[in-house]
Amino acid sequence: MSGAAQQNRKGGMTHPTTRQAQSGAAGRDGQAVPDRPQAQPAGPEKTYFNRLAAGRFSIHRCEDCTRAIFYPRNVSPHCGSMQLEWFDPSGLGTVYATTVVHRKPEQGGNYNVCLVDLDEGIRLMSRVAGIAPQDVRIGARVRAQVETVADVPQLVFFQEQAG
Ligand SMILES: [Zn+2]
Repeated sequence: MSGAAQQNRKGGMTHPTTRQAQSGAAGRDGQAVPDRPQAQPAGPEKTYFNRLAAGRFSIHRCEDCTRAIFYPRNVSPHCGSMQLEWFDPSGLGTVYATTVVHRKPEQGGNYNVCLVDLDEGIRLMSRVAGIAPQDVRIGARVRAQVETVADVPQLVFFQEQAG
């Protein structure tokens, strides 16, 4: 029980800068933590990941200009309003750009990285799973799904079946 005491600190709800210098990637079961933003997320980002961990994809909408917002933040990038609310988008979107990241088979093989335009009007980076990475097409209709990989909840997209 060495690292556990540090990690389970309940910091209260509104510490604006709760950055812990060493997040101890090797501390837990010796597992490396993939692709997670360094430092503990706080504020809206924390809410986003908490919801993702619960299998829920939520993004912000500005109550003043009504536009959808991603990445989670405190201020509307469109109009400067701080009146942001969470909502669950349809998850439906269109592939805007796609590429294949090459990786050796022993490292998990190639995978897709893409930009998806959600129907709600935001663009986000993700990947399309379920088909070969090079078969993802620009313009393809895809649907978001939350998947947990190595304990980290991630948003991935799957191609919609036509018809
Ligand atoms: Zn706004």
